[in-house]
Amino acid sequence: MSNTKFFAGKTVGRLKLICEAVGGWKCECSCGREPIFSEEALASVRSCGCIVILGLDLATNSGWAVRYSWRNAAAIKCGTFNVAENDSGEEVSWETKYALTSTQVYKLIIEHKPDFVAIEEPEHRVTQFNKKKKNPVTGAIEESSTINPNALQLSGISGAAIGVCMMMGVACGTIPSRSWHSKYHGKGVKPEPKEDWKDVAIRSCEREHVPLPPTKKAQRDAAEAVCISACWHWCSVLDISWMRKRWMDLRTGAAKALAQRQAGQVAA
Ligand SMILES: [Zn+2]
Repeated sequence: MSNTKFFAGKTVGRLKLICEAVGGWKCECSCGREPIFSEEALASVRSCGCIVILGLDLATNSGWAVRYSWRNAAAIKCGTFNVAENDSGEEVSWETKYALTSTQVYKLIIEHKPDFVAIEEPEHRVTQFNKKKKNPVTGAIEESSTINPNALQLSGISGAAIGVCMMMGVACGTIPSRSWHSKYHGKGVKPEPKEDWKDVAIRSCEREHVPLPPTKKAQRDAAEAVCISACWHWCSVLDISWMRKRWMDLRTGAAKALAQRQAGQVAA
């Protein structure tokens, strides 16, 4: 009896079913391996055991990076996207930026099929700073406390990205910039005078031969996403049980062990 649930060409995560074989289906994984999985096993595996991580440095100008467990840093793919303007080049509302972010993240997940999405955590505190202003009546210079309201957009932008991950069944988590700076660059590493953290990220990408975008502006955003993608196992994962389980399975190697156990054979 033919089984309509499984057929050649069907995709399961990053696996593509090639043909029926002894013990199940011969699959092609996006990493190039060709494991055989039983139909039962195909319910719980998404790859041969290899891992793809999407890192996101989200803002109005965002950076993204895709890292592969079976390749070195030179194979990392990265780029940027902008959500400040619509197709006609007009500046858009905050809510539109969130919607445009979700579209961009959706496209990235469809194209790269990541196992986990690591996102830089937006500031939870509202940073206040002092602003000097001339009193129009008295002419005196007065100091007042203010905030940068645009910083509040970052939570909306991240929320949009996280919602897309959730809907698409991809585990995700966030990591504060101070955490990944010290984890990735090492304790005590700081930007040189007249530099910021993005410059530090570009230097580390150049050292590892990560192919960055051509312009300096795009490099600044993409390079941070590359660093964030390396810090996925230090992320705070959402309080959602399937996401936590998936993340733990990836972290501990349980997902890989399961795939290897389930696979009839793994071609080198
Ligand atoms: Zn694979």
